Amino acid sequence: MNSLHLKSFIRCKRKAWLDFKGKKSYEIWSPHKAIDKINQFQIFSEFCNSEIYTGLKACENGYQGVIGLKLRGNLFQNINAEIRPQLLVKTKGKSKWGQYKYLPAVYKLGHKTTKEHLFDLAFSSMLLESFQDSKIEKGLVISSFDKKVNVEEIDLNKKLRKKVLNVLLSLNECLEGFMPEITQDRKKCTICSWQKFCDKESKENGYLTDIDGIGSKTASLLISNGISDTQTLASYSEKKLGETLSKFKDQKYEKASLFVKQAQAYISGEPYRISNKNDTNDLLKKTFSGFYIFDIESNPDDKHDFLYGFLKINNLFTKKEDLIYEPILNLKKNKGESYRKIIEILFSQKEWPVLHYGETEKVAIINIAKNLNFSFEEIDSLASRFIDLHIFIRKSWILPLKNYSLKSVSNWLGFQWMEKNASGSKALYWWIQYQITENEIFLKKIIQYNKDDCFATLQIAEYLIKNQLKKN
Ligand code: SF4
Repeated sequence: MNSLHLKSFIRCKRKAWLDFKGKKSYEIWSPHKAIDKINQFQIFSEFCNSEIYTGLKACENGYQGVIGLKLRGNLFQNINAEIRPQLLVKTKGKSKWGQYKYLPAVYKLGHKTTKEHLFDLAFSSMLLESFQDSKIEKGLVISSFDKKVNVEEIDLNKKLRKKVLNVLLSLNECLEGFMPEITQDRKKCTICSWQKFCDKESKENGYLTDIDGIGSKTASLLISNGISDTQTLASYSEKKLGETLSKFKDQKYEKASLFVKQAQAYISGEPYRISNKNDTNDLLKKTFSGFYIFDIESNPDDKHDFLYGFLKINNLFTKKEDLIYEPILNLKKNKGESYRKIIEILFSQKEWPVLHYGETEKVAIINIAKNLNFSFEEIDSLASRFIDLHIFIRKSWILPLKNYSLKSVSNWLGFQWMEKNASGSKALYWWIQYQITENEIFLKKIIQYNKDDCFATLQIAEYLIKNQLKKN
């Protein structure tokens, strides 16, 4: 076992097992991991004034920062372990190399220092101590806020080391045993490289957490009431289920009906129409004389929207290839210029609604308008043109899907992204690559991805509008 297995184990036991024994062909490349590595290297490099070198030789030469070291050793009871310290930082002391020693350091994204960071540091220190012949009292957690490097010192005391030893024992047991169950907390799965593999098994076994809106707590409540899988849920009485769901108080019957219908749709593969004729009618009327589709690509860690994409639709009968798509790149240095272009587009068709998927786009436009000193009334009138299709579809349809993300819904409608397995995080990865290399290929990929996002949103709009037309 190694540091990476420990990290995975803290998140999900099954992930640690799959990382160790799983068939690699079932694993999907994760842009999150790659983004993390790039950010990590940049911050470490800044922290060590660019004096970062790789491997054992770097320790012998006494460089300030050392990465890429793998150390093996015997932990206890003949358990072999390998540590892969993210970074070793030179400090005062005495070691086998001379009048200095190394401390382990880890990178932290966000504000919260978690078990993952503490355990990683403690685990690294255990093998590093004997390797460098020197005691390690503390480890470092390095992060960056507002472009400033932050360092937190962690006391690697006995209590923490004991805890880690116990976790390592359980990890060892887990890795030697059978594959653990899928985690109850499926939120963890969204950025996991084994997601596809686990999703397949979960659907085959009828896990309740596959049903939109059912988290681990609701699933346990249902199981304790004899509703153990999606099949049972789909054929359950809505009224009886409502009585069981007392934790949802006033909404309990509404939730019960949603859960049962969602389970029925999920199993049958058939969508279910919730009757709210007025809303869809409204969409039909509002978009009749033209509309925009708007989609943003952003870097949430940096709070930066790097690309705005507009698709102009004069009417739904225009051929797709004749539609005009306009990408607006938002480099930090030309912020004013991109804001001006966005407003220009929006005001070139003052009456047109702006269709988008999710809340980000509307929030971004309100912020831009504030930044440009628009009056309250102007902001209000601009914001009122935005129509969130994500809210719209959830209000009017129950779809045979696990979730209602842009990808899930439009894929179900038959839409395909040019790039296989494309995702927002992959676009972010390309953006980071573009900033480092200035290679236009990455920019082209991002723009194509954003264009596809716009067309995917259009496909959902067409579905909503055309189904309304059919009924009338
Ligand atoms: S997809 Fe979910 S259950 Fe499967 S390994 Fe990843 S986190 Fe665990």
